[in-house]
Amino acid sequence: MTRTLSLPVLAQPSRLHAHIPPEKKEKCAVFGVWGHPHGARISYLGLYAQQHRGQESAGIAVSNGKAINAHTGMGLVAEVFGDRVLYELDSLGGKGAIGHNRYSTAGGSVACNAQPLLESYIRGQVAVAHNGNLINSDALRRRFEEAGHLFHTTSDTEVIIHLLATPQQQRAPDPLAATLRRLQGAFSLVFLFPDRIEAVRDPWGWRPLVLGKIENGTDKPYWVVASETVALDVCGATLVREVEPGEIVTISDEGVSSRHFAHKAEQPAHCVFEHVYFANPASVVFGQNVQSVREMLGETLANEAGVPADYVMPMPDSGRSAASGYARASGIPYREGIVPNRYVGRTFIKPTQTERQAAVRLKLNVIAEIVKGKRIVVVDDSIVRGTTTKAKMDQLRQAGAKEIHLRISCPPIQHPCYFGVDFAERSQLIAHGRSVEDIRKYLGVDTLHYLSLEGLLSCVNRPASHYCTACYSGQYRLDPTHPSTEVIIEDEQMRMFA
Ligand code: SF4
Repeated sequence: MTRTLSLPVLAQPSRLHAHIPPEKKEKCAVFGVWGHPHGARISYLGLYAQQHRGQESAGIAVSNGKAINAHTGMGLVAEVFGDRVLYELDSLGGKGAIGHNRYSTAGGSVACNAQPLLESYIRGQVAVAHNGNLINSDALRRRFEEAGHLFHTTSDTEVIIHLLATPQQQRAPDPLAATLRRLQGAFSLVFLFPDRIEAVRDPWGWRPLVLGKIENGTDKPYWVVASETVALDVCGATLVREVEPGEIVTISDEGVSSRHFAHKAEQPAHCVFEHVYFANPASVVFGQNVQSVREMLGETLANEAGVPADYVMPMPDSGRSAASGYARASGIPYREGIVPNRYVGRTFIKPTQTERQAAVRLKLNVIAEIVKGKRIVVVDDSIVRGTTTKAKMDQLRQAGAKEIHLRISCPPIQHPCYFGVDFAERSQLIAHGRSVEDIRKYLGVDTLHYLSLEGLLSCVNRPASHYCTACYSGQYRLDPTHPSTEVIIEDEQMRMFA
């Protein structure tokens, strides 16, 4: 990777996995701003607001109109960017900046994979930040390596720059569009060239990407792109619109322009799990406020599987929004009886099962005075492996809960995700090959109900066929295991663009 800035890359290998919720990981958050005199500082804010989407590494690349500099490192945004680093980076920019928070779904947790990736090619410099997962990157990389290309990272994102640099793409009337048509899978991308930002969303719209602007009293506002609207809020930007599936939005001194590299897929594949778990509740994702959707999931859950109880209790923090909806719909009082210890988890290394169980007990304290002798509906957003949930249920039982009725605000996760969410292996998913009754017995609860897929889809406002639900249904919009995936891609993309 070319780095024209000799700032230190902060590696903290002993803490890499300590930051991360063990079961669900998202790749990643992207951000970009053009025209702002302090692009690096604005990007820092945008990344900070999106820290929930990736805690493994962070990076910012800045352009002064002629050259791009970047700084990346392992850890949280605040760890990677101290005052001095941020000041230095900010003073090297002035035109545009892009940023990235990463959690790896492809490539591994190493410093060289931190983004934005910055490279030089025949047309100059380019930096890229990626949210999503390319399912044809292995095939593409193998072809490049056979042709003698050297890769600096193990990330799927690097193939994009190699593709862009090929004579074949460079001869195309629009090299970036030609490059994007070779990609298969989920990609919300932000490119920084010295003179512009190009923000891109795949034709299926798997991951969110929004365009906003910061008014500055002139007729040339500062333009911003981000994975989530919560990043716009924090830097004083207003939402303009989503970047459309198949669209390239160019932001430069000339303002904003748009073109399409492919038609929007007939059936988009917005990741419904963004609403269930990943996105910040304050964000508007796929045209809907996330908190409102989660409350509706809880209401629907109560309508599907009501049960007499003394309290509705959220699993903090993941079950709070759905629990409030469940309580409202059921008329059962909402009460918090499980209290998180906010100072545990960031630095707690858990190599063994015993230590992991101790970590769960440390992280969540059950208030025995509240739960003892009570019938409790516990609401959580999802169960992946089930080990953490079981530990929490055991704690409740030990504290004297009389009945535990577990309600989950999405269907059982039975299949892996190939489009940007790192669930466990199929064999490690508790719902894979097990009935709900088997899971109930394992967790030791009195009743267990997962929200139905129909119930989930009734809470989102776009047509049901416009959402990816593959981790629940096994119905993949693209088949990542097909041996001729890459060929299919090229044919499909050609058709889409014809
Ligand atoms: S498989 Fe699940 S997590 Fe992955 S994109 Fe589809 S809905 Fe989202």
